[in-house]
Amino acid sequence: MYDVLVVGSANADLTVRVARRPGAGETVLGTDLMESAGGKGANQAAAAARIGGRTALLARVGGDAYGELLLAAQRAAGTDVAPVIVDEHARTGTAMIIVDPDGDNSIVVSPGANAALTPDDVAAAKGVIAASAVVSLQLEIPLETVRAAAAAAEEAGTRVVLNPSPAPEDLDRELLAVADPLVVNEHEARALSGRADGTPGDWAAALRERGARSVVVTLGGDGALVLDDSGTTAVPGVRVEAVDTTGAGDAFTGALATRLAGGATLPEAARFAVRVGAAAVTKPGAQPSYPTAEELAQLP
Ligand code: ATP
Repeated sequence: MYDVLVVGSANADLTVRVARRPGAGETVLGTDLMESAGGKGANQAAAAARIGGRTALLARVGGDAYGELLLAAQRAAGTDVAPVIVDEHARTGTAMIIVDPDGDNSIVVSPGANAALTPDDVAAAKGVIAASAVVSLQLEIPLETVRAAAAAAEEAGTRVVLNPSPAPEDLDRELLAVADPLVVNEHEARALSGRADGTPGDWAAALRERGARSVVVTLGGDGALVLDDSGTTAVPGVRVEAVDTTGAGDAFTGALATRLAGGATLPEAARFAVRVGAAAVTKPGAQPSYPTAEELAQLP
């Protein structure tokens, strides 16, 4: 039995800091290469596991050193990696990240093995889906695979948390209709609600009208807004010194899924997730910044 099964991506984040990001045809020198575990799916699994959720990950990595790195990071976080497929014919997904002194970045993602995660892989994991309280989905794997996972969860009576990131042009009604909740940041909320000039409350209402069962809009340092059958709940942010916000949204979503699996209401789960997201911005990196329950207790 799992609290959370994450079906999604796993990437090696390859980061170089530069004085200035290069333009077309330009070469610049940067710092030493930093290699760390990332990818939205793997991040959410690591966040859920570190906070104490019984967590499993269904993903594909290549049979290479980066695949080993990602598996080791998941095991260290406490994730069950039994469903992860090591694909000898593909390279592990990578994100090449260039960061300038202002913290602005340019990122190129090579999906690699993530692109080979298929609906057949989901079908083979049917038992794990049925044995999980919550399935958490994002959009860094093929959309047909996300759809298959959502359908399998629906059939098994497993709750679906859907984080439509990176933001697509549009999201079909069928997928929206299983999201309970749909977790979006402000950019995704604007894009998917079609209400560019509205407020977070307007975006959440529009997304619910479009079919989502419930909606959470994350608001960076300002916390989150929840819309469900109990109405609208504004969850205030936690004041912390932000060092690096990379992966904060994934920390939030992994923590939210864990609490929902434990039987919390959506507003209760969002209150907890806002604290986990805040803890994650106080340290550099994505997965290395995720708190354990003990570390979370230190937060003001
Ligand atoms: P990212 O893309 O950086 O992973 P996101 O854009 O998906 O994040 P945000 O809304 O920026 O999502 O942040 C998610 C959560 O992280 C917030 O709800 C909040 O809990 C926490 N958080 C983010 N930034 C801050 C901050 N500056 N101070 C405190 N908490 C923060």
